[in-house]
Amino acid sequence: MKLRFDASVEAFRAELLEWLAANRPTPEEMAADPSVSTGHAPAWARRWTRTMFDGGWLVPGWPRELGGRNAGAIETLVYIEELAKARVPRTTNVQGLGIVAPSIIDYGSEAQIRDYAMPILRGEATACLGMSEPGAGSDLASLSTRAVLDGDHFVINGQKVWTSGANYADFCFLFCRTDPDVPKHKGISIVLVDMKTPGITVRPLPEIIRPEHPDLNEVFFSDVVVPAENLVGEMNNGWAMANGSLAHERGMVWVGAVMGLEEALEKLLHDAPRLTAPMTPDERAVAIDQIVRLAIDTTAARCLGYRGFAKLARGGSAPEQALMKVFASETRQRIALVAAEIQGATSVEVGSVGIDGHLSVDEPQGTWLEQYFHSFANTISAGASEIQRNIIAERVLGLPRG
Ligand SMILES: Cc1cc2nc3c(=O)[nH]c(=O)nc-3n(C[C@H](O)[C@H](O)[C@H](O)COP(=O)(O)OP(=O)(O)OC[C@H]3O[C@@H](n4cnc5c(N)ncnc54)[C@H](O)[C@@H]3O)c2cc1C
Repeated sequence: MKLRFDASVEAFRAELLEWLAANRPTPEEMAADPSVSTGHAPAWARRWTRTMFDGGWLVPGWPRELGGRNAGAIETLVYIEELAKARVPRTTNVQGLGIVAPSIIDYGSEAQIRDYAMPILRGEATACLGMSEPGAGSDLASLSTRAVLDGDHFVINGQKVWTSGANYADFCFLFCRTDPDVPKHKGISIVLVDMKTPGITVRPLPEIIRPEHPDLNEVFFSDVVVPAENLVGEMNNGWAMANGSLAHERGMVWVGAVMGLEEALEKLLHDAPRLTAPMTPDERAVAIDQIVRLAIDTTAARCLGYRGFAKLARGGSAPEQALMKVFASETRQRIALVAAEIQGATSVEVGSVGIDGHLSVDEPQGTWLEQYFHSFANTISAGASEIQRNIIAERVLGLPRG
């Protein structure tokens, strides 16, 4: 069994590390002007995106003209790991770079690529993703925000919710109902909407952690007029595009999740001797047993991730992705809960969250209890745990639909 990368991959890593050392934003620079929402790109983040784009390091797997270097899947894995180890965010606008820009490149017109995707890639604009609504979350096809074509423009009315970064984003990749008279999957379209268009109201939703810097928002559309040319792809083909959009980067999302787990576990192992010292021998035995289980689960998560990745890299499909989503997010939650419980009464002293310029939900931040509160974001977003379990039941285990 070969458990190391090829020399060419190691050469890629060495080139990246050398480039990172010379070009990365400093921790001080990031801490002085933190990103306060996933739609917010401070000056250093805009510069950093542009520097990565120019250097061919923004999306290594893409061609040069899109900020890449035609790197392979394994190189991309190494790239994501090394950025995380260096504690440099790849972007502060995760929806923009991870989903919106690639979707526009896949499905948009040349003008949309020029005016909407390229500005994201060059760090000049940020985007938010308008999918979920009060009546349409897991069941996205039920969305009811209406876009009515009227000559050369759409008129949009409705409401989105949980729109990450909408309070700062320049534009929204908006899913709307354009035909209410066909089965619900068939009447959905995607429209690019400038967030400064009259008739849009953004209402941030304060979160339990960092209520002063909300990232999630309600977005209301009242007779919002959008040029018809902002339709992405074909009319009423939004459902197919949604599946394509969300598939972007799905194969790599686990890397950040696993590294977040490993970092949290390392911190727990560091804190454990101090936290368990005042315990009785019986209490300590129970605490150590829980920690060891978490260490096993963390290792299992990395193995599961590599297994799914190896299948994807060979061109196959990987049900491990649904398993990974549930297992990594719930293990992360267990680490925070076990740590808070071992910490005891002092764990309730909240309010000391530091922002270091990186809003990744994978990254352990704040006290253990704050991390526990925050861990629910990952068990819900990008497909809640129950939905992943349905997928595993049907597509992996072949069980009948409930
Ligand atoms: C941190 C975060 C960021 C987000 N960012 C965005 C964003 O940028 N843009 C955007 O559009 N949305 C965003 N969302 C919304 C997210 O996509 C939805 O929260 C998610 O799809 C779940 O939808 P819901 O909240 O409406 O819950 P619901 O779908 O109403 O589900 C409620 C509960 O019922 C369960 N449930 C639902 N259907 C089933 C079923 N068939 N079988 C079993 N159980 C079921 C769910 O698992 C859940 O526990 C974000 C959410 C979070 C937490």
